[in-house]
Amino acid sequence: MNLKDKIRNIEGFPKEGIGFKDITTVLKDKDAFKYSIDELKKMSSEVEFDTILGPEARGFLVGAPLAYATNKAFVPVRKPGKLPAETISYEYDLEYGTDKLEIHKDAINKGDKVIIVDDLLATGGTVLSTIKMVEELGGEVVGIYFLMELTFLNGRKHLEGYNIKSIIEY
Ligand code: AMP
Repeated sequence: MNLKDKIRNIEGFPKEGIGFKDITTVLKDKDAFKYSIDELKKMSSEVEFDTILGPEARGFLVGAPLAYATNKAFVPVRKPGKLPAETISYEYDLEYGTDKLEIHKDAINKGDKVIIVDDLLATGGTVLSTIKMVEELGGEVVGIYFLMELTFLNGRKHLEGYNIKSIIEY
């Protein structure tokens, strides 16, 4: 399977200068979707873990099926104000301004081994803030897996020392 052929590139979305990698074309192709989850499952089989975290919203689309396929728990990482129970949050810098993510305080227990899954690694801000929250709650991040990675944005430089894998690279 060449997954690159299944990902739709939309130039200028959501703003000029961005080439948006659209995975709806992967999701609607049952073989490409299955292949993607199977590849993530292979990556995750190299580590022992308890829980999968997926950042809103595309992290849900790959993280929840992976949790089902590996028989593990799933924890959603959300934008502020979406989670109903007590949360912790982490604010991170963007090129212009900041963004914030939250998880439920009781989503991770001390000593839990977790993996983080998302569709795409760009600058690494999303994943870095997810890591910070996991570690604040006493969890350990043992793997970070993506469908694809925009290597020219060098997101890995913020994530040194972590086990990062992606199916394809741009
Ligand atoms: P970052 O925090 O910069 O690593 O950005 C990663 C998050 O933003 C992921 O959840 C992606 O879904 C989304 N994202 C960033 N850049 C793109 C892009 N070019 N195409 C599609 N999604 C993107």
